[in-house]
Amino acid sequence: MKYEAVIGLEIHCELKTKTKIFCGCATGFGAEQNTHVCPVCLGLPGVLPTVNKRVVEFGIKAGLATNCTINKYSKFDRKNYYYPDLPKNWQTSQYDLPIAEHGWVDIDVDGEKKRIRLTRIHMEEDAGKLVHSGTTIKDSATSNVDYNRTGVPLLEIVSEPDLRSAEEARAYMEKIKAIMEYIDVSNCRMEEGNLRADINVSLRPAGTEELGTRTEMKNINSFKNLEDAINYEIERQQEVLEDGGHIVQETRTFDPARGITLSMRSKENAHDYRYMPEPDLPPIVTSEETIEKYRSELPELPDARRARLEKEYGLSDYDAGIITSSRAMAEYFDAVVATGADPKLAANWIMGDLAKNLNEDGIDITKSPVSAERLGKMIGLIMKDTISGKIAKKVFKEMWTNEDDPEKIVKDKGLVQITDTGAIEAAVDAAIAANPKAVEEYKGGKKKAIGALVGQVMKATRGKANPQMVNKMLAEKLAD
Ligand code: ADP
Ligand code: ZN
Ligand code: MG
Repeated sequence: MKYEAVIGLEIHCELKTKTKIFCGCATGFGAEQNTHVCPVCLGLPGVLPTVNKRVVEFGIKAGLATNCTINKYSKFDRKNYYYPDLPKNWQTSQYDLPIAEHGWVDIDVDGEKKRIRLTRIHMEEDAGKLVHSGTTIKDSATSNVDYNRTGVPLLEIVSEPDLRSAEEARAYMEKIKAIMEYIDVSNCRMEEGNLRADINVSLRPAGTEELGTRTEMKNINSFKNLEDAINYEIERQQEVLEDGGHIVQETRTFDPARGITLSMRSKENAHDYRYMPEPDLPPIVTSEETIEKYRSELPELPDARRARLEKEYGLSDYDAGIITSSRAMAEYFDAVVATGADPKLAANWIMGDLAKNLNEDGIDITKSPVSAERLGKMIGLIMKDTISGKIAKKVFKEMWTNEDDPEKIVKDKGLVQITDTGAIEAAVDAAIAANPKAVEEYKGGKKKAIGALVGQVMKATRGKANPQMVNKMLAEKLAD
């Protein structure tokens, strides 16, 4: 039988507020253990939480940016469970009246657009962190609890089960990441756990509607793991079903080293958590004016920016999609274009040599050794025919480790393009004299033979002759 995969994501997004959601403790990452704590986030008796207004603002902005309806009356609820990283024994979250509901975002996979619905976005507090003496809890003699993360604000963004493949799930998570970066509510550093996903996967016979039994993989924090976990789980479930078995609803863990998922525990249901309204916090009532104020503060979002780059600069849909996939890259692009650089050349250089070098050295674009301004200047040299596109690759490479202006590098290294007709003519004549065979072939109708001659000239000029001039002059001389 042919099966169809059905996938839904619950994305946890850590908000970049200065202080925690219900107290004044700092939120910073990497501080010494248990230094960002107070009686409120430690859940000591007799204390009362207060809601950080910024968290509500960020929740509403995230909802607006993902086409959600904002609930003007929203409230917090207690989700009760025991674990050492949860000092109150409940997590303050939202249950039936989340801040935002019924949204959507568009993704594209292989050039096809698809709309993914959002069920809801709710606000909640993060739990603390267990720090094991070994690598896992099982091989550790002791485990410490670090409560610095306890009470750090999160948005949980829940999708409908609209995703059908690992690629779609990845595209969806990339889109959510981009939107959260654009609206500036989260750092979205996946390696620091700012953005992590629980993935729900089930199969059903192709062409049917009813949802199959799902499994859930928690805390996936890289795009690679997301794809690997989904692909593995689809295959595993398919084998179980093809063998006549049935899927057990359970929470599984993904082991990135082995690329497999393992059963962890049977999955809990909402009623297991004994959700109850949070009595210590008032409901959140938001006026239409406040919502409109936040809406007016939203920046241009990824889809709109993409459409603008296509319209304003004639970039292809694909290129514009890549350039706007992160706010930092889109801003870098704008800064390059602001120097007067041709937008298409700018896009090519950013997606090509820049992306490749950043990737190889593991550097974020915001810390690129070649600033947008310097790349813009280098593109300017190409546009003025001072250097050819090919020589520019050498210049760019030099710029990676050399802080000089591209103009200076080109002069120092003697890379200025030869546009002097006399110098080119000498090299052209020499190439013609040295390659009678290619000349004969060309004159006999094999036009491609000119390539060998161009190659000779470029070699003789160490790549510095203007290629258009070389081609033109050769064609002229061979026409006689
Ligand atoms: P929880 O996992 O907290 O119990 P939900 O039941 O609301 O919460 O579902 C969470 C996620 O699982 C949502 O993203 C939803 O789209 C997805 N989901 C629900 N049922 C299925 C299913 N049968 N197959 C795949 N995904 C599912
Ligand atoms: Zn605190
Ligand atoms: Mg879940």
